[in-house]
Amino acid sequence: MSQVKRVLIVGSGIGGATAAYALRRAGVDVHCIDIKPGIPSAGSGICLLHNTVRALNMIGLAEPCLDSGMRFDAFRQFDSSGQLLRSDPAPPSCGIRRPELARILESAALGAGAVLDKGLTIEHLDDHGDCVEVKFSDGREATYDLVVAADGAYSKLRDQVFGAECRPHFAGQSVWRFNAPRPAQIDGFCLYRSPSGKTVGSFPTSEDTCYLFYLENSVEPLRVPEDQASAMIRERLAEYTAPAVLEALDQVTDAKQVIFRPLDITLVPAPWYRGRVVLIGDAAHSPTPHMTSGGGMAIEDAVVLADCVSKTQSVNEALAMYSERRFERCKIICDASLQLCRFEQEDPLKNREKSAALLLKTYQYLGQPI
Ligand SMILES: Cc1cc2nc3c(=O)[nH]c(=O)nc-3n(C[C@H](O)[C@H](O)[C@H](O)COP(=O)(O)OP(=O)(O)OC[C@H]3O[C@@H](n4cnc5c(N)ncnc54)[C@H](O)[C@@H]3O)c2cc1C
Repeated sequence: MSQVKRVLIVGSGIGGATAAYALRRAGVDVHCIDIKPGIPSAGSGICLLHNTVRALNMIGLAEPCLDSGMRFDAFRQFDSSGQLLRSDPAPPSCGIRRPELARILESAALGAGAVLDKGLTIEHLDDHGDCVEVKFSDGREATYDLVVAADGAYSKLRDQVFGAECRPHFAGQSVWRFNAPRPAQIDGFCLYRSPSGKTVGSFPTSEDTCYLFYLENSVEPLRVPEDQASAMIRERLAEYTAPAVLEALDQVTDAKQVIFRPLDITLVPAPWYRGRVVLIGDAAHSPTPHMTSGGGMAIEDAVVLADCVSKTQSVNEALAMYSERRFERCKIICDASLQLCRFEQEDPLKNREKSAALLLKTYQYLGQPI
């Protein structure tokens, strides 16, 4: 019988909501909080690679994601006019809209009996060794056997328990993202390569929708005034004539439709726990998005953590086992993602073949058991 009977999960994003569900399935009482009120209603798309779908399947959540999103198994490269350059098989994946994924994960956690408190955070935490006492922002206090920091790349809880040296830093690229109706051509993971070395990527997020992204290099993080984002992305993609890209750009009428974000990365050294506080998801490892795997790693973390908790009696052993099973795998993904990011910064044209080869090789690695 595990010593972990009552868990607090801080953050109900991809990792936190999955952990809430997976731990409830393992018979643990779960209290999950998130600083933001409500369920996210806006957001771009996310690609659930084969290993992510496999991890969701291990806890019975793959089906609703596959039903809401769109499956694909092709990796296609086009030129900037939309002519197909090459097509490779990719491992079966699923694109889905982020708010839809959030809804599925949170509903599952609630349905399984997790308590979800929105608009709430931690004010103070005391790890006594045999339990953790927490004071919340609304003044309430409670005691838990384990606290899971699932509060993302800029985790305050990680800062508090692991120190500020694990904070993310800028990777030298920023990303522009926007949603669009899905043209027939976007039926897989698609990259549109321009002669000057730019790449626009896209994949379906449902039968009717897709999402596009463009990565931009810069030495310092760019500053993009919110009201200028749509004009700025048009300027950057001016050399593109591919109908799929032009049609998607045409429907961007409001700057708010464009989501801009500098890419910040971190990989916290193992072990990912101190006493009874454990890191999962971006709080532990925030890769660049080149391997479309950060969310997948967060989901795998949650599934493995619940497995370790259910297999071991001692909290310390469960956390040691979790960290041991997760660190090396996440490091490989963070390293590959950063290498892909560097290839684009160094010489995108020269490195295209190398990038595609590394992507496909790392996809294969992801198929290894967790
Ligand atoms: C451009 C881009 C594209 C990406 N594409 C993909 C992809 O295709 N596939 C993929 O698998 N991954 C992708 N990722 C990565 C993925 O989005 C992240 O890895 C994933 O969201 C991490 O999940 P998480 O639960 O750890 O953190 P988050 O999703 O960031 O969730 C953290 C939660 O914690 C809450 N929170 C924050 N601070 C506090 C606090 N103090 N108290 C309480 N709650 C708090 C937040 O409100 C949030 O709900 C992409 C990332 C980027 C930037």
